Formats: sequence, structure tokens, C-alpha cells
Amino acid sequence: MKFKPVVALVGRANVGKSTLFNRITRSRAALVADFAGLTRDRHYGEGRVGEHPFIAVDTGGFEPVAKDGILLEMARQTQQAIAESDVVIFLVDARAGINAHDHEIARLLRKTGQRVFLAVNKAEGMRYGSAASEFHELGLGEPHPISASHGDGVVDLIELALSFLDKEPTGEPDAPVFDLDEANAAFDDDGDIVLDAEEADEAGQDSEAPVNHRIKLAIVGRPNVGKSTLINTLLGEERVIAFDMPGTTRDAIEIEFERGGVAYTLIDTAGLRRRGKVFEAVEKFSVIKTLQAIEACNVVLLMLDAQTEISDQDAHIAGFVLETGRALVVGINKWDGLDAHQRETILREFERKLRFLSFAKMHTMSALNGAGVNALIKSVNSAHAAAFAKLSTPKLTRILQAAVEQQPPPRKGIFRPKMRYAHQGGQNPPLIVIHGNALDNISESYRRYLETRFRTTFKLEGTPLRIEFKSSH
Ligand code: GDP
Ligand code: GDP
Repeated sequence: MKFKPVVALVGRANVGKSTLFNRITRSRAALVADFAGLTRDRHYGEGRVGEHPFIAVDTGGFEPVAKDGILLEMARQTQQAIAESDVVIFLVDARAGINAHDHEIARLLRKTGQRVFLAVNKAEGMRYGSAASEFHELGLGEPHPISASHGDGVVDLIELALSFLDKEPTGEPDAPVFDLDEANAAFDDDGDIVLDAEEADEAGQDSEAPVNHRIKLAIVGRPNVGKSTLINTLLGEERVIAFDMPGTTRDAIEIEFERGGVAYTLIDTAGLRRRGKVFEAVEKFSVIKTLQAIEACNVVLLMLDAQTEISDQDAHIAGFVLETGRALVVGINKWDGLDAHQRETILREFERKLRFLSFAKMHTMSALNGAGVNALIKSVNSAHAAAFAKLSTPKLTRILQAAVEQQPPPRKGIFRPKMRYAHQGGQNPPLIVIHGNALDNISESYRRYLETRFRTTFKLEGTPLRIEFKSSH
């Protein structure tokens, strides 16, 4: 399996990196409305431009507070992100022209040997010549005039940048699970909904269907939380079936193992190598590998360190998990060696800060002595089952009707929203598509109300749930 390619946005402050980043990624503003810090600083996102999936990284988020105002040396993390990305988009400002920082960054980029595309931003309404020509002197090839805020030239530039990468498929596409026959079966000839009470009563059992395919698992977290220790605890006890060495940097390192009769593929983030019975991480922590592993897996195990505070980096990784819609289990590691008072304070603190991940199961654990690991893996299994649960149209529709009966959506002006039926539009995360009339302005709080109803009836713990409204007129 190939990792998704990574596009890094580089450039001095104010050239428009975050504007471009927001344009080319899926917005998760609504998803994390509760978590202020995260929405302000978005640095990683799923790319959604053109046909090829990619991951976008705004390296502006990694910049240090520049000492004496000059960014002489890019921060280590920025350099690492550049080195590990597949393509760099270097932004400059058409209106401000070239300055010393641009020259400095260009010099550093040339040294990396990375494939760099030069984007001359804020070029809307400017003639090509006047906007871009002076930037030839940066020595990074053809300048591409774009406007991040208006969108001019953005799609072409991203497609050009990605066209240089190999065309192998990245991961598996999200298979649509909408079954037309099944959907139609929910209706009689007049288009009225036919409800099967018995079926609806069984709705709660869906997510407990046996897991019969491999669980792709990524264990992520910042340096020193205990990822390698956990991996050794897991793999040391279990039968490691296959351990593929990667051919290129775009290949995911996958380790197949079994535990309790369930088959897993561990998607590694740190370049594990086997030495005797022990696995060692040969690379240092990598943001990029972490993002790619999250994209490539079904279930993320996010490890946090009980003995240090939750950091921005934890929050950013969690935010990216939310954006991709992967199933999630949180492990609060290093729970050993804390006294009862500390445990209580820490748990309360973590619960408060992680409220935006309330769909995920949280576990306290010790990777070192194995405490809590079984329960953790059980949650991984049930999160996976929830992510791939099959939600039938009659059951969804019945739950929807009951929810609407109990609390109808508020009217918008003269329009009364009318919800007719719901069907499943995808898995991992489950997507529920609600059909009806005048659904364009359903409020976020009503959406959440419906989400809770679906979630509790189908017992969908451990996976985000997406709801989409489709109005026929
Ligand atoms: P960053 O510091 O590189 O992330 O830059 P920002 O994305 O925050 O943008 C800096 C400023 O430039 C903001 O005021 C943006 O609104 C503005 N800006 C960004 N892109 C464009 C553009 O394409 N055209 C114009 N005219 N302004 C832009
Ligand atoms: P990684 O960078 O996330 O892979 O972290 P490591 O697995 O290398 O662990 C970092 C340090 O934390 C090592 O010294 C481990 O021995 C220690 N450590 C890992 N798990 C635990 C745990 O559950 N309890 C305690 N007390 N220490 C742990």
C-alpha cells in the first residue's frame, strides 16, 4: 500500500499560506467547534483538489517566533516536514515583490533537493508578466501566478504538482454502500415509508457484527509517549506474521499480527526494525509519517502521556484524526507510578480537554507493564466494528422518524424542513444521508441531536459519524 502524497506549503509570514491551505483542504471548523485552540491553528489537512488525494501541511504552523524578526534558519520541524513531503509549494507575494526572506528560503529549499513549485500569490487582476516575471531570479523554475483568496490558478498548480508523482492508487477508496434495492424496499408504491418494527428493534445489534477482516491500526502520538513500548508489548506476545520492508518512502511499513483470533495490520510511523525479539524505531518522530499512517488506517490508537500535560501537538494530531473520520481509541499511558490523587486530577483534566473526542473510548494504561492493554485492544475491535457497521435504510428511517416526532426541526422562515428517509452513504466513518425537503439550513445543534439518536441506537462507539442532508427541492 502507498501512503498518500504530502504537499508542504512554505513561505515567509503573510504570503497567504494559511489562505491557500484552507482553500485546498476540507474544513473541519464545524467538527471541532468546541475546541478553540484547534480551529485557530490548523496545520494538517486532507487535500481536496482535483482527482488525486493528498495531505496538505502548512509549515507556517511550525515556524518559531522569529528572533530579531528574521527567519534565518527554518525550524527543525519545518525542515523535517519539507524533507519528508513529496512536493513543496513555495509561496511568494506578487504585490510585495521579492525580499530577503524569500531569497533565504529559496536557498534552503534548493539545498533540500525537493521538488519545488513556485506560487506567486495575490496575483488576481494582475497581468501575467508583471505578477510573476521578477520571481524567476529565485532560481526555482517557472513562477505560477495564483490567487489563494480568489482561487485563480490553484487547481491547476496542485494538479501539476501532483502529476509528477507516481500514479499508483493510494489506499482503498471509500466504497459506497448505498443499496438501491434496499432503499426502495423501504417504500410502498406511493413513496410512503414502510416500517418494519421488528427490524428497527434489532437496530442496536448492528455494530456488534463479528469483525471478519483485517483491522488496519495506527499507533500515534508525540515522541516518548510510549508507542514503541506498546508495540513491543503487543508484538512480543503475539505471532508476527509478516513484516514488509518498504521499497520507497511512499510505501507504508505494515506489520501483520494476530491477537485473540483477530487479524491486525499495524501501520508503522517510526520505521520499526526488528532486532532479535525486540522492535526498534529507527527514525525520530515524524509528523508526516503520523499523518500518512492516520490516512492509511481504519482505527487510530492515539497515545497520550499521563505524566505530562496535553500539548498542542496532541491536539493537532487528534484534530487530523477527526478530519479524516477514522475510528479512534485514546490510550492514556504511564498510568503506573501515579498516586490516587494524581490519577483523579489527571483524569479530570484529560476528560475536559478531550471533550471534542467524546465519541472515542479513553483508556488508562501502562505500555510498560501491560496493564489496560487488553481492554484497549477490545476497544480497537469495537471501534472498528462501529466504523464498518451496516445501517439499513428501514432502520435508519425509523430512528429518524422517531427523532423528528419527538423534536421536529425548527422552521426557517416560511420553510418547514421535512425529513423523509435516511440511508447509509459510506463507512469508516459511517455516513448517514438524510433525504427530504428544505434541509439546507438544518442547524448544527439539530444535526447533533440526530447524530446522538443514531449513535445511541446503533451503539456506534469509537467512530465519528457524519450526517449529510439532501434536499430534493
Ligand atoms: P500566511 O501568514 O502565509 O499564512 O498568510 P495568510 O494566509 O494569513 O495571508 C496573509 C494576508 O494576505 C491575509 O490578509 C490574506 O487575506 C491575504 N491574502 C492571502 N491570499 C491572498 C490573495 O490571493 N490575494 C490577496 N489580495 N490577498 C491575499
Ligand atoms: P515513543 O517515542 O512514543 O515510541 O516512546 P517509547 O516507547 O520509546 O517510550 C519512551 C519512554 O517512556 C521510555 O523510557 C519508556 O520506557 C517509557 N515508558 C513507556 N511506556 C511507559 C509506561 O507505561 N509507564 C512508564 N512509567 N514509562 C513508560
